[in-house]
Amino acid sequence: MVIPSMEHPCLRCGACCAFFRVAFHWSEAEPSLGGGVPPALTEKLDPHRLAMRGTSATRPHCVALQGTVGEEAHCGIYEHRPSVCRDVQPSWEFGVHSAQCDKARLAHGLPLLTSRDWLDGGRRGHLG
Ligand code: SF4
Ligand code: SF4
Repeated sequence: MVIPSMEHPCLRCGACCAFFRVAFHWSEAEPSLGGGVPPALTEKLDPHRLAMRGTSATRPHCVALQGTVGEEAHCGIYEHRPSVCRDVQPSWEFGVHSAQCDKARLAHGLPLLTSRDWLDGGRRGHLG
């Protein structure tokens, strides 16, 4: 793992991986269709969708999340994470706030990210 000079805020967070139910089309875990999400880490949600294990719980916590929320956290299947995970952007990384990021951080008692968190230019993507 290459550690950038400025640590990406997601690597000290992980809140969104322990807040939302992470649901996606079953084909994302079907290798014959190009899906790369490890099937063993998923569970069937309905005829069309899977969910990451742990994220349908009353207190969600994705089975792939490693580390401690709010301290040090990263996705254990970063290269193979579902599309919905790729879609979550940290607030202000690209100049706009993210409702999902803000909601998850608030729920875990973490301060909302601001543009100042990116002054030195974070270089890594979501929980990467
Ligand atoms: S996107 Fe936001 S809530 Fe998710 S890990 Fe990054 S900083 Fe935390
Ligand atoms: S980014 Fe990784 S740890 Fe976070 S919810 Fe998605 S699969 Fe789970």
